[in-house]
Amino acid sequence: MVKHLRIQQVLQDKPVGENLEIKGWVKTRRDGKGLSFLEVSDGSCLTGLQIIADQGLPNYNEEIKKLSTGCAVRAFGSLVESPAKGQEVELHANEIYVFGWADPETYPLQKKRHSFEFLRSISHLRPRTNSLGAVTRIRSTLSYAVHQFFQERGFFQIHTPIITTSDCEGAGEMFSVTALDLNDLPTEKGKVSFERDFFGQPANLTVSGQLEAEIYALSHSNVYTFGPTFRAENSNTSRHLAEFWMVEPEMAFCDLDGDVKVAEEFLKYLVKHALENCREDIDLFAKFVDKELFSKFSAVLESDFIRITYSEAIDRLEESGRDFEFPISWGTDLQSEHERYLTEEVFKKPVVVTDYPKTIKPFYMRVNDDDKTVAAMDILLPGIGEIVGGSQREERYDVLSARMEETGLNPDEYKWYLDLRRFGSVPHAGFGLGFERMILFITGMYNIRDVIPFPRTPGSAEF
Ligand code: ATP
Ligand code: MN
Repeated sequence: MVKHLRIQQVLQDKPVGENLEIKGWVKTRRDGKGLSFLEVSDGSCLTGLQIIADQGLPNYNEEIKKLSTGCAVRAFGSLVESPAKGQEVELHANEIYVFGWADPETYPLQKKRHSFEFLRSISHLRPRTNSLGAVTRIRSTLSYAVHQFFQERGFFQIHTPIITTSDCEGAGEMFSVTALDLNDLPTEKGKVSFERDFFGQPANLTVSGQLEAEIYALSHSNVYTFGPTFRAENSNTSRHLAEFWMVEPEMAFCDLDGDVKVAEEFLKYLVKHALENCREDIDLFAKFVDKELFSKFSAVLESDFIRITYSEAIDRLEESGRDFEFPISWGTDLQSEHERYLTEEVFKKPVVVTDYPKTIKPFYMRVNDDDKTVAAMDILLPGIGEIVGGSQREERYDVLSARMEETGLNPDEYKWYLDLRRFGSVPHAGFGLGFERMILFITGMYNIRDVIPFPRTPGSAEF
């Protein structure tokens, strides 16, 4: 009987003596005396399976000797212990069938290493490479781990809307959603009349599911959302995407300290989970992409995160004597260069910065007793900068509505949000973790465009 197995299973179980069928794409072909060695991958793991094709096979000269990188094949044969170094087992083929050819003259992926920039220009083929193949597996495993972490702790997943009519961050970085004909807009007094649009009002793609998650935190206590978010910020950096995935837990009966604790436990869980479940792929990145990878993991796993207030952070930055590109003083927002100085040079560890000035944070963050700062927290990671942004939410009706007026929001449009403070309000808190920034941290990759299958950035939205 022939057993069909994924290559990952074959290499893990090593069922020597069994007849197997495997299917995949040729990585390399080498010819020896009277036989050929094929390395075949089916994407299930980094290492391919070595297949020995003997010249006795009927299609040896016609087909097997013409196989090249990228060809799709099926191989039947028996698994044997490999006499040579480099692999423990190999498949002695009784039959090799070619599904699809890949002309070596035109197939862009060859055995040599390609630059990540080049691979971005062939995003439809890059998942077949070792590095992007590994990113793909790590991303999938960690996505599942996000759900495991929260579900194990009794959180409910809430599907918050992707099309919204509220602006959570108030930063005006939203993509509009409309069914109007942009070349023939209905207007009234020189302005577009959105009453005639699909929803009867302006709508946009969500920048965060937080406000809607709060609704369910105030009925189910602990909830989370994990979905795509969209920001039309024109930051062409290696840390920003226009479409990215965010994990947003929201917890009732929770203050800022509890919020930080969950975030720290979550980060540690993801790193540990990746080490336990993606070791082969991580080893690849530690070897070829970031030699510091394991020491960065230790910095997350082996001690409590540093906690400092924003005011302390400003002191540290001012006394650093550094010539930062963006000058820093109390009241200005921390830029990536400041965040990375703190976590990479001052503390060499993850740093939690709390209690930011209210003037640089959104309306929903809880105002502290000093009336100058809010109960906010950002977590900074070496090599990344900000990975998490969170806060305790303002649960006091009067303070919240005053903050809305202060920041130029119309409380009438957020009646439902204020209602949550009118009826059964409780202290609650939450945070957002950028999923791609987490994948950057786990892989040591440099550019966020290389850890999402289909990156959307200013000027670029392929597929
Ligand atoms: P930054 O200052 O880096 O632009 P932010 O303060 O705008 O981040 P938040 O609104 O707090 O970010 O969002 C929560 C988290 O989402 C961030 O900590 C980060 O990990 C991630 N994130 C934010 N913007 C982006 C983006 N454009 N692309 C990818 N991830 C992002
Ligand atoms: Mn931003």
